[in-house]
Amino acid sequence: DFGTGVALYVDDITVSFDGFKALNKLNLMIKVGELRCIIGPNGAGKTTMMDCITGKTRPDSGTVSFGQNVDLLRLRENEIAEIGIGRKFQKPTVFEQLSVFENLELALKADRRPRASLWHRLTGAQLDRIGEVMTLIHLGQQAQRQAGLLSHGQKQWLEIGMLLMQDPKLLLLDEPVAGMTDEETERTAELFLSLEGQHSLVVVEHDMHFVDQLTEGKKTVTVLHEGSVLAEGLLSDVQANERVVEVYLGR
Ligand code: ADP
Repeated sequence: DFGTGVALYVDDITVSFDGFKALNKLNLMIKVGELRCIIGPNGAGKTTMMDCITGKTRPDSGTVSFGQNVDLLRLRENEIAEIGIGRKFQKPTVFEQLSVFENLELALKADRRPRASLWHRLTGAQLDRIGEVMTLIHLGQQAQRQAGLLSHGQKQWLEIGMLLMQDPKLLLLDEPVAGMTDEETERTAELFLSLEGQHSLVVVEHDMHFVDQLTEGKKTVTVLHEGSVLAEGLLSDVQANERVVEVYLGR
């Protein structure tokens, strides 16, 4: 039930590793269709937070819910993926021997929900969707190109396209522009801005220029530090926040 406008609700989660708190009463609320950037120094807990959302790590306490009332802490990792949470790790993992089109086709058919199967021919609607996604990820002219021959940035886009084939409601992206050229970064911002509204996006990012492109001077940015939220607000405001400056420069 997404009727209340909440896509993801992380409430007071704590994660300890041998007594060390990687997350310490972390709270985060993402609205349906929202694009939220999460920043913070190394070790702040960004990866652990993503792991708690996708079921890879179980918090010691607190709750994580999807929409208003889906308790993610009761679901397994594969079930969380199936209900519409897609995660992209830093390294692209596309099938290098297959074409762009075939990668997207495979992602569609690998969807474990009953509407697809590996040996059925694509329906017209599925073909249309692949075409739509290829355009979104800037690979509309590269359908037959072998994925292994794409640039690093293009591979990242293809992997995002593969996630999109499964119609995720929420996309989690870990440093999506790491290693990209400036032009690729800019086109990735374009892509994410075109997904905003249709999907909710949580983007963990170090590249402040990219965060600036994504937030367009008007969206909320969350700063994590020592496992909890240090600041939340417009990028310009959090960058001017004394405590934020201190944690970025002071250590
Ligand atoms: P970030 O992604 O913001 O760099 P992480 O979530 O990876 O931060 O890590 C947060 C803290 O938790 C770090 O101090 C890290 O060393 C620690 N940590 C993360 N995973 C483990 C683990 N499996 N065992 C022990 N410590 C961990």
